[in-house]
Amino acid sequence: MIKFGIITIFPEIFNSYLSESLIARALKKKLIKIKIHNLRDWTSDKHKTIDDRPFGGGLGMIMKVEPIFKAVSDLREKSLPRSIRAKRELAGGQKSKVILFSPRGKKFNQKMAYQFSRLNHLIMICGRYEGVDERVAKYIADDVISIGDYVLMGGELPAMIVMETVARLIPGVIGKEQLLKERIPTKPGRGGRGFIEYPQYTRPELFFSKKGLNWKVPKILLSGNHKKIEEWRKKHKKIIE
Ligand code: SAH
Repeated sequence: MIKFGIITIFPEIFNSYLSESLIARALKKKLIKIKIHNLRDWTSDKHKTIDDRPFGGGLGMIMKVEPIFKAVSDLREKSLPRSIRAKRELAGGQKSKVILFSPRGKKFNQKMAYQFSRLNHLIMICGRYEGVDERVAKYIADDVISIGDYVLMGGELPAMIVMETVARLIPGVIGKEQLLKERIPTKPGRGGRGFIEYPQYTRPELFFSKKGLNWKVPKILLSGNHKKIEEWRKKHKKIIE
């Protein structure tokens, strides 16, 4: 079973997300495990300080390395250096990974999601403010990940995005297993196992509004001709990998 551990200073952001829909069901059925951790629990001063001013000057605050180091060490139940941990994992131990979110990271994609879905433990560090002390990227995180070329206010949404993309690859999470299989291209590109996405329609066949719209469903989809439908879908597909 895969366990997601999320380190954040805004744990409550996740409340409604975890209590709705397929994620809630997957948790209940114990197909996945999710633990939200408040980074401030790993501070020792009265004010539970997790940030400080940037060396070299500049606006905004930077998240400190120490609370993150302590949190990650605790979550892994050991604070072994990366190289030793990698060797142990090769020897057949628990497979875990620590990822840090940053707009400067490697761009997240479906292929990475597949790789993550084979882990036992995925620890995610959500940045806030002006970012995170670079030593977290350098010494603590196995991967630094961006979800796209734009800047958000925090790593919480990226964590939900990664978690959701990975979770739906876990057998049983999206109900019918067939749903996953149906969308996997027969010839996977570059070793990945992409998904086929194509346009979809449902009833009514014709949509009229009072303003006189006339929005039709493509005839082929109503034809019942499976071969033709397949061809149409192929023509309009996009492979996500
Ligand atoms: N100047 C900062 C921006 C910080 S935004 C920097 O370059 O890191 C605050 C936090 O939001 C980041 O630390 C990161 O965890 C998260 N974040 C913002 N945009 C993101 C993106 N596109 N992908 C992943 N995480 C992002």
